Amino acid sequence: MTSEPITAFTSQQLAARYASHGMTPRLARCLLASAVRFGVWPDQDTTLSARWLRDLRNYLHIPVLSVLERRTSAGDGFEKFLFAAPDGARFESVLIPLAHRQEDRKAVVCVSSQSGCAMGCTFCATGRLGFSRHLEVWEIVAQVAQLRRESSFPVRGVVFMGMGEPLLNLDAVLQAARIFSEPCGLAISAKAITLSTVGIVPAILRLARERQPYRLIVSLTSADPDKRRRVMPVEARYPLSTLRDALAAYHAATGRRMTLAWTLIAGFNTSEEDAQQLADWVGELPVQLDLIDVNDATGRFAPPDDAERNAFRDALRRHLAAPVVRRYSGGKDIEAACGMLAAQLRGAI
Ligand code: SF4
Repeated sequence: MTSEPITAFTSQQLAARYASHGMTPRLARCLLASAVRFGVWPDQDTTLSARWLRDLRNYLHIPVLSVLERRTSAGDGFEKFLFAAPDGARFESVLIPLAHRQEDRKAVVCVSSQSGCAMGCTFCATGRLGFSRHLEVWEIVAQVAQLRRESSFPVRGVVFMGMGEPLLNLDAVLQAARIFSEPCGLAISAKAITLSTVGIVPAILRLARERQPYRLIVSLTSADPDKRRRVMPVEARYPLSTLRDALAAYHAATGRRMTLAWTLIAGFNTSEEDAQQLADWVGELPVQLDLIDVNDATGRFAPPDDAERNAFRDALRRHLAAPVVRRYSGGKDIEAACGMLAAQLRGAI
């Protein structure tokens, strides 16, 4: 048996898998807590004998990602980490401080689920890189575990908005999410774990079928099929009409409101007609709309100015009966904002 990463398993799975080695559920919780919180094996005590731990080390190890670069935004404190896996695959994570309440400061980690991405959204730096490979469970867990140890505030949430399309690596993403939620480990509430997708229809239907407890954000950016196809090639594979049906099924199964993300691009998707088309597409579906300025390092796409953005918000108010939230996308000075990840990796993977 080759050595397995401890942080690829929940405590229950560890206990079942290593029961023949004397692993009880309590010992499994103790091992996992030490591995994900501190990155070390637990100290031996009366119940964890040195001999038992030595035996286990033949089968299990605590894997670590190398940090190749760490950059901190002077403007808003966002921190971007460039990681390398043992095989050289590279990917990035962002530590996002939420400092709006001084007495309750906390942080959220934006994680990658793949090295590179195959979806090719034209406004995204990762999309221009192409796909390298899926990340393994432990590689997703390690991003949060390692950033948590660097964070000045408790990490209370995880968003799968880094490199990659998480719903194309769904088994690993769901397993990592289960490990994030383990009370003995990172203890992050399932409701504070967000999966962000461009709209992989079969995976959305699976989330619905399994009633997964995580939040879902779907990147829409246009409700006009031709327009959407121009910036999001996924439209050719999973068109808006089937995506709408999948979200209706998701809502029917979970009862949850979904968030739609709208990347604001000047002169492209901010007109009265765009708002009307979106409202027609949404229909009775309970949604919230998040508006996020495009961040395109190439300069091909620009965010709208205040006048254009406000006019679009007014149009949305006239047509769409749903909450609209403008999302802050921070860390622009260190290329950590939405759509900018991997800008510095070009040619490296
Ligand atoms: S926006 Fe997301 S899905 Fe689209 S190319 Fe970028 S990382 Fe991939």
